[in-house]
Amino acid sequence: MTAPTLEAGLDDEQLAAVTAPRGPVCVLAGAGTGKTRTITRRIAHLVSTGHVAPGQVLAVTFTARAAGEMRTRLRALGVSGVQARTFHAAALRQLRYFWPRVVGGPQWQLLDGKLRLVGQAAARVKAGTDAAALRDFAGEIEWAKATLVTPDEYPAAVAKLRRETPAAAEQVAAVYAGYEALKNRAEMLDFDDLLLHTAAALEEHAGVAEEFRDRYRCFVVDEYQDVTPLQQRVLDAWLGERDDLTVVGDANQTIYTFAGASPRYLLDFARRFPEAVVVRLERDYRSTPQVVAAANTLIGSARGRVAGSRLRLIGQLPPGPEPDFAEHDDEPAEAAAAAKQIARLIADGTPASEIAVLFRINAQSEVYEQALTDVGVPYQVRGGERFFNRPEVRRAMVAVRAAGEVDAPLVDAVRAVLAPVGLTPDPPAGAQQRAQWESLLAIVELAEELVAVEPDAGMPRFAAELETRADAAHPPTVQGVTLASLHAAKGLEWDVVFLVGLVEGTLPIQHAEGDDEAIEEERRLLYVGITRARRRLAMSWALSRQPGGPRRRRRSRFLYGLIPDEHPASRVANSGGGRGAPKPRCRVCGSPLIGADSMKLRRCADCPSDVDLELLDRLRGWRADVAKEQQVPAYVIFTDATLTAIAEQRPADNASLVRIPGIGARKLDRYGEAVLGLIAESDS
Ligand code: ATP
Ligand code: MG
Repeated sequence: MTAPTLEAGLDDEQLAAVTAPRGPVCVLAGAGTGKTRTITRRIAHLVSTGHVAPGQVLAVTFTARAAGEMRTRLRALGVSGVQARTFHAAALRQLRYFWPRVVGGPQWQLLDGKLRLVGQAAARVKAGTDAAALRDFAGEIEWAKATLVTPDEYPAAVAKLRRETPAAAEQVAAVYAGYEALKNRAEMLDFDDLLLHTAAALEEHAGVAEEFRDRYRCFVVDEYQDVTPLQQRVLDAWLGERDDLTVVGDANQTIYTFAGASPRYLLDFARRFPEAVVVRLERDYRSTPQVVAAANTLIGSARGRVAGSRLRLIGQLPPGPEPDFAEHDDEPAEAAAAAKQIARLIADGTPASEIAVLFRINAQSEVYEQALTDVGVPYQVRGGERFFNRPEVRRAMVAVRAAGEVDAPLVDAVRAVLAPVGLTPDPPAGAQQRAQWESLLAIVELAEELVAVEPDAGMPRFAAELETRADAAHPPTVQGVTLASLHAAKGLEWDVVFLVGLVEGTLPIQHAEGDDEAIEEERRLLYVGITRARRRLAMSWALSRQPGGPRRRRRSRFLYGLIPDEHPASRVANSGGGRGAPKPRCRVCGSPLIGADSMKLRRCADCPSDVDLELLDRLRGWRADVAKEQQVPAYVIFTDATLTAIAEQRPADNASLVRIPGIGARKLDRYGEAVLGLIAESDS
């Protein structure tokens, strides 16, 4: 019997994919249409109808975080024991298990980064050995291995593809060959070898293949548009003659072709499995029609190979704000503006964990880390894969492990155990200390999550759960803003997304220039970024890197067609700078005024007209004093929006005061009396 919840909340097409009989299934669909939801439900459906046991399912994702999310979602559906892993993690596990039979002797160690051996190989053939050259060689070797090209085959392969190589193809091939020889002599494996050896073990050892295929019966791959030939070979080895495979993907989100990924396996799936159930989804359940329109516009001008599979999304959510565009003089100013907006959103009630800042390259993160620290907003870099590496988290895990069985309810007990590690009742001051505190709080939330699923779980069970998560590097959602590269954001979603650094040379990245396919991949990256936003989307760029530097940068070409003509960012660009007279500001909320109507009213169209301006002034004055006293920016006390709402609604007591967004219990405690006093004064 299927639990009714497994089919609830699915549209007809999703349902068709979820309930399709065992066998090949392919879901081809755009961003936010519920692909990941569909495969998770499909797994749960197959398990709950008794078609497979949870342990016989192998679900493959492309990041450890995505794998962790899938396990969490499955557990919420009442399914545990499904293997959800990355290709690499799955291969590593299998290889460890089969090693004695396939190779024998001690297991080869995993190579921690290629550069040292690549450097030795490069020196031998007198190739460039500076850091950048070595990274390029390593990247080429990875591409070659991912596309199943050996050193011997390399020169012909790149010639055929007209692939740009970092040095003469023969020289790259020589470095590649030298690297392989050194690595094998040292009895080491690199990441790609994990996959190669796993495939080979299954292909060449009938006994191994038989045992494996007896163990795993059903395979599921998310984000299948980004599979490499090497990963596909592993998948084929896993499958053997069987066809129990569900794949989901979106060719428009292919963002790893530079590393050898190819959407052709996805697009050719129905040809390979003619009896496959193929489902197309086009309803977007993630984003507002405004965000969906931006995504459709951007991808509508895509060209080239992948664009053939164009899918238009149809937004299903109620409308939200139009995307915001902003041009800044320099990067620190761009980051400061984003940080300020983020602080406001948080003060107005958006959880920090529902906000992301996404950029093209990881180096861009630092200026945002700085800007967020400046305004006291906690953040995590790249979805926080490093969560379990944080010192306070390690200390917490040691404490949990040491606690043993306890009498108290788990969540209370965990709080008590973490108190000596730094879990104070109230958040401490200082952004970094608060970030630590948030990590500890996140561990308590993990305990809450566990108890929700397993009410009887005790401390040892919780310790084991933490270990499992740490192994899989699946961090709990800390209450911090996410800073991530566009690549790392794949498959995830946030209420508010800031896409920053949108200038030529960064997006599209410099080295894509002159290569049409590479430019299209950059476009798809922006498409991935836009479609991460549920409600609010802010896009920004800066004309110079450093303050006072030459304002020579140009906004990304992908923004043309996205920015409406009447938007101020369009005018700024058209008039070549837009400095000069200060922009008129709203007399209610203080934002720059946009559009003739607002100018006339001297307030934003959606700002209240019946606000008590005198009271608002007094509130602002009070806020300035408090901010000065506490040495924090004013909006940390209350944002303009909150003050405006107070001046408009004139709450008379605590109960009506907390109803205003941006005023929680803590703020009520601290400022409630003063604010109610000011209102009472202005009444008299
Ligand atoms: P991406 O291409 O970005 O990976 P996706 O196709 O995998 O997106 P999901 O992450 O599965 O999309 O779903 C996007 C959002 O829409 C999620 O918040 C999900 O819970 C929600 N959603 C999916 N299907 C439905 C539905 N039928 N009704 C309501 N919400 C849905
Ligand atoms: Mg998905």
